[in-house]
Amino acid sequence: MIGLISATAAGAAARDRLAAAWPARTRVYDGPVGDAVRRAFGECEQLVCFLATGAVVRLVAPLLGDKASDPGVVCVDEGGRFAVSLVGGHGGGANELAGEVGELLGAEPVVTTATDAVGVAGLDTLGLPVEGAVAAVSRALLDGGSVALRTETPWPLPPLPLTEESAVGTEGTGGADGAYAVVRVTDRAVVPGEREVLLRPPSLVVGVGASRGAPADEVYGLVEECLREAGLSPASLAALATVDAKADEPGIVAAAGRLGVPLVTYGPSELAAVEVPNPSDAPLAAVGTPSVAEAAALAGGGELLVPKRKSRRADGQPAMATCAVVRRAARGRLAVVGLGPGARDLLTPRAKAELRRAAVLVGLDQYVDQIRDLLRPGTRILESGLGAEEERARTAVAEARAGRSVALIGSGDAGVYAMASPALAEASDDIDVVGVPGVTAALAAGAILGAPLGHDHVSISLSDLHTPWEVIERRVRAAAEADIVVTFYNPRSRGRDWQLPKALAVLAEHREPSTPVGVVRNASRADESSRLTTLAHLDPATVDMMTVVTVGNTATRRIAGRMVTPRGYRWQQEPR
Ligand code: SAH
Repeated sequence: MIGLISATAAGAAARDRLAAAWPARTRVYDGPVGDAVRRAFGECEQLVCFLATGAVVRLVAPLLGDKASDPGVVCVDEGGRFAVSLVGGHGGGANELAGEVGELLGAEPVVTTATDAVGVAGLDTLGLPVEGAVAAVSRALLDGGSVALRTETPWPLPPLPLTEESAVGTEGTGGADGAYAVVRVTDRAVVPGEREVLLRPPSLVVGVGASRGAPADEVYGLVEECLREAGLSPASLAALATVDAKADEPGIVAAAGRLGVPLVTYGPSELAAVEVPNPSDAPLAAVGTPSVAEAAALAGGGELLVPKRKSRRADGQPAMATCAVVRRAARGRLAVVGLGPGARDLLTPRAKAELRRAAVLVGLDQYVDQIRDLLRPGTRILESGLGAEEERARTAVAEARAGRSVALIGSGDAGVYAMASPALAEASDDIDVVGVPGVTAALAAGAILGAPLGHDHVSISLSDLHTPWEVIERRVRAAAEADIVVTFYNPRSRGRDWQLPKALAVLAEHREPSTPVGVVRNASRADESSRLTTLAHLDPATVDMMTVVTVGNTATRRIAGRMVTPRGYRWQQEPR
């Protein structure tokens, strides 16, 4: 819950806009502001105060306890110009809230936490448990000191401005390789060095089996002991896994709760299909699979680190619990991101978020230039020139398969005549793939021309580099016969000049010479230009590779200088 406090009429107006936008998340605290701030501080996870920062500092100072548990506080000034993250930037989420409030009220978010202010991902905001010298290593990162990333357990991380990357074995620790500080990604139970931060990836899965009524202490104790003896950190535990029949077994449920991880369950036939080193008859009879602990741990794939073992009971009674430990393979993440036609405000917020999340960015150099300023320091940029499409696709997939988080970018929509298909044709199911749609050129051009796509429409690329011209011409003819609005991508280049006139001639066999044709060059870019002409008058020489050409159907009209294709024109013109 977000508590809202205001003192003046302007403050109350801004407060009401927030309350109206987030009815379920906010609560208005009325009355004298001192009292309101104190009540909200005690009752809410976050506060937005429409008050001077000085006033809020004085009011909350006596209430502050610990940055991990204090609410995040954001102040908005009287003029609604700034949303200041005052306290609880990370732990209380005030930095993020300042951004959200800023977006809603049109105010500039002000964030002073060093890592956020310079766009470096804070070590404590990576979504992974951290241990060790967080403050010292963060300072080194900010100061541009030499910080090495040592990846013992590969995991897709956001970018960190690190000086080197080295995969290490199980031995190395501390500021090795001459680096001042080290960020070490590991699931092993090691003690961090003096200038070392440990990031704990959720890489471990413990499979558990238990007889009915197994005590929670016995299950929990066994899991802990297994991890400890194998030298593994409980902070990297991602889940407990077992068979469906044990989904409600109180000892297992309680142990998962105490470990703070979810309980994942599988059907007996699924488990029976998993190859395990130590199958046995007892579980086969009881729950229908020769292995519970090992099979459940391995069901999601990975490497068996600790084979099945049983609990030891002090009272000498038979063991009631079994467990096995598996290290899951890191799943890399490939985001295929459309950047839109060019203008920054046509780049979606989701695309922006993915760009900032990726540690590796792959793309055509000119597209990289379009968004370079948005990237976080430390992002590894793999840019290449025109033509190297297949290679870019392969590189992006290979980086993701190595367990990294990768963004593959393309202009417009990355799935339209662009990188998504060659990349996904390469990709196997061992990586996660996320697509972020972008505004494709046909849509950007359509909005400039008017409403040319108001009825059925199709895009056709006139590039015959990868497609035989006969196929292209057949498609143009089909669109012509079906009276469909056509947008031509890749319409004309220096070496390809006869295709556009030919395509237009095919359309002209089925459409009037007066059919409107829109030509848009560099839609939404600084040198945007557009023209509305007709099939008879289009001069192909005015068209190049930065252009799309949209040809109307037989109902498309020029109205007040705009291109308009009516919806369902027959019944509109002749009402029955
Ligand atoms: N993925 C891109 C298309 C790549 S094919 C998209 O979804 O938009 C390249 C062709 O797209 C160019 O030859 C041109 O015809 C068209 N194009 C791309 N961006 C454009 C823009 N901003 N203005 C006009 N045409 C554009």
